[in-house]
Amino acid sequence: MKKLLHIPLCLLLIFFVFGWAVIPDQSSSLDYREEFITNGFDYPVGKPDGEGYYNAQKFGENNHLGDDFNALTGGDTDLGDPVYAVANGKVRFVDDVKGGWGNVIRIVHQLPNGQLVESLYGHCDTILVKKDQYVKKGDQIGTIGNAHEIYTAHLHFEMRTNMKLLIGPGYAKDKSGYLNPTAYIEANRN
Ligand SMILES: [Zn+2]
Repeated sequence: MKKLLHIPLCLLLIFFVFGWAVIPDQSSSLDYREEFITNGFDYPVGKPDGEGYYNAQKFGENNHLGDDFNALTGGDTDLGDPVYAVANGKVRFVDDVKGGWGNVIRIVHQLPNGQLVESLYGHCDTILVKKDQYVKKGDQIGTIGNAHEIYTAHLHFEMRTNMKLLIGPGYAKDKSGYLNPTAYIEANRN
């Protein structure tokens, strides 16, 4: 009788050991559909070349971890303007993080060589995609916002090579795992 009791326990143990192992790890998953592998990068505003926008706070300025895209027309004139996926990819995160972030969209892109890079779109007014949705380069994913009126409307845009980074501080001296977004896009146009 005592031995029989151990059978369910063993099954539970097997589930925990192997069950956890098969839970997909978003951060390193390569099982993206082939048609969503990247074929170059475009700008997230002013599709596809960033026309009509300028970079108000460049990567590295004041330890900024991204680029701030603003309309040339200034002020809140870009509030509600479209935000586009910079490349084919899969949405890994959408949420209102509140605080200094507001609505955030994070997309993972798989390069043809298998490497993953992430794009992050902050302060959005609206989010038009869902987690785990596949997107194509140039698809509208949201609109430019002001993080619940904390800022003048703009897009805070980051690119990352480290898939394990959390939402992050937006500013930091240590830029390991982050890319210069404009430089990366310029070097990887189709
Ligand atoms: Zn910013």
